[in-house]
Amino acid sequence: MKDCIFCKIANQEIGTEIEYENDNVIAFKSIDPKARIHLIITTKKHYDTILDIDDAETIQDLHKAIKEVSQKFNIYNSGFRLINNCKEDSGQEVMHAHIHMLGGERLRDAII
Ligand code: 5GP
Ligand code: ZN
Repeated sequence: MKDCIFCKIANQEIGTEIEYENDNVIAFKSIDPKARIHLIITTKKHYDTILDIDDAETIQDLHKAIKEVSQKFNIYNSGFRLINNCKEDSGQEVMHAHIHMLGGERLRDAII
């Protein structure tokens, strides 16, 4: 999608380092990390929100990415937090579906 920052990252139109890739999903570091490790796991194809993902293989690849990214960053065993902001009330700023993966430290200030 035109003017979507995550589409541009997925298409390698801007110089963000891709930390992980599978058929339908990529992951890269957040530009504004909220934990020692803060990855953005997102779809290669544009979907506005997680509710719009209508492809079973993409859902499967998101799950595969969660496992493999956590392994790459050595937080598979120690643990991590996943956050998905969906639509306005959540504070979603980038309207391209994505999951935040936070870890690498003992996380505090949990809402839930
Ligand atoms: P949201 O609030 O939409 O759930 O989160 C967007 C996330 O993407 C935030 O962690 C923000 O720092 C990150 N982000 C926004 N623009 C860029 C960018 O151009 N590059 C990278 N690497 N991360 C970005
Ligand atoms: Zn997009």
